[in-house]
Parts: sequence; structure tokens; C-alpha cells
Amino acid sequence: MSAPQYEVYAVKYAHHARRASENFIGGDPHDGPMPLDYFVWLIREAGTNAGREIVVDTGFSAAMAAKRKRDHLRCPTEGLKLLGVDAKAVKDVVITHLHYDHVGNFDLFPAATLHLQDLEMNYATGRHMTQPVFQGAFEVEDVVGMVRRVYAGRVRFHDGDAEIAPGVSVHLIGGHTMGLQVVRVSTRRGNVVLASDASHFYANMEQSRPFPIVYSVADMVEGYARLGELAGSADCIIPGHDPLVLERYPAPQATLKGIVARLD
Ligand SMILES: [Zn+2]
Repeated sequence: MSAPQYEVYAVKYAHHARRASENFIGGDPHDGPMPLDYFVWLIREAGTNAGREIVVDTGFSAAMAAKRKRDHLRCPTEGLKLLGVDAKAVKDVVITHLHYDHVGNFDLFPAATLHLQDLEMNYATGRHMTQPVFQGAFEVEDVVGMVRRVYAGRVRFHDGDAEIAPGVSVHLIGGHTMGLQVVRVSTRRGNVVLASDASHFYANMEQSRPFPIVYSVADMVEGYARLGELAGSADCIIPGHDPLVLERYPAPQATLKGIVARLD
């Protein structure tokens, strides 16, 4: 039997204006505006109304946006609701890594098992977090909340590559953080890879110019090649923060233009 095929969506929930020089190690010789969009992603089994739903990352709250001076457009759960998803009923959430913009709202998914790499929890609770250079994009309350979720038995740890549903797998990349994982999904156009922050922008991976928030530059650069191996073709890799995603992919319906892109 062939693996089920899935629909895949990017849902934009926030925005941040910044310059290109802030998005590459060593800056950018043609510096200019290069904003970030913030997304969560939905994977939904195609062909049935009662298909399996997997959410990838949970975004941040309006309060966190105010603290970090980001433009909050909608609660990520409100964005998912536009696609008919009830966050309270979602059973599986992949947390690509524990940075504040990927894990902030996981308490809004009370029924979910959270999928996380062993190395990411080690990183977020271990020796490197004593250093400001590594802790900047983590929020200690998010990490503490994740520890509570571990004790409640609601975290499923992975060590490297793992299939979490037929046709949906997670893959350890590291680089940006020690335990960053990406998600590969079987779709009608082949395997789509949700790269999250393995590549913030198309330019990071296409030009091998690493993003400056990084645990291991070597692993980050190796990760660009790994994304290509996982995806099969370059146009099936979806970067984590690039506004171009909403230009390159269509909205599932006209009213969702600028908010949701269909990636499969
Ligand atoms: Zn991020």
C-alpha cells in the first residue's frame, strides 16, 4: 500500500521588519530591507474530511510579540481555525526547536503529544544556556513549560530520523540549534520538506550563507545539503521565515491570500 498523501499549509501569524545584514553571517554587501514572516504549518491527510492533522510549531502570543517588538497579526490558533482546525483537538504537534517563535503557545494544544528531538531538550536545559549568545531566542518559561509537559507524559522524544505517521517523518538537522528538526511530508507533488529554521530564507540555503543565530555553523551549512537530499527537488523545500513563500504558493481560497499558502 502506498503512503497516504497530505495537504500542507503555511499559516502566517506575525511579521518583523529588519535588514538583510541581520540575516547573514558577515552581513550583506547589498544591504536593504529583508523582513521576516512568522509561520506555523498544517499537515492534513488528503482525501477525507476526517483526515489526520499534524501541526508544526505553535508560534508566539500577542504578549510575547509586544515584549520582543514583533508585529503580531493573529494568534496561530486563529490562523489554523481559518483552515477548520480546532487547536484543542489536535493530537500531534511537531516542535521543530524550542526558540520562542516556534513553541510559545503549546498550552493552547492541550490534547497534543509534542514531538521533540532529545538533543533540543538537552540544549535548552544544559550548559550552553548559561551563555547569553545561545540563550537569546529561548524564553525560560517556554522551556519550563516543556519540562512540565514531559512530566505529564505528553512529549514524544526522537533521536534523529523518525516516522511519526505514514508518509510524515522528522529529521534531525541541528545547526541553528543543537536539536533542530525538519519535517518531510508525502504529497501529490512529491516530498515536501518544512525546513523551519534549517533555512530562514531561500537565500540562506541557496547561497550557503548562514543565518547569524546559530549553534553550529558547520551543521547549519551541512543541513542545506541534507534538505536537498530529503526533498528530492529544490522547489519542495519550504524555508521557515521567508515572505516569498506567500508569493510562490497560492492561497487555498481568495479570502486567505496573504495569510495562508498551500504548499503541496
Ligand atoms: Zn524562527
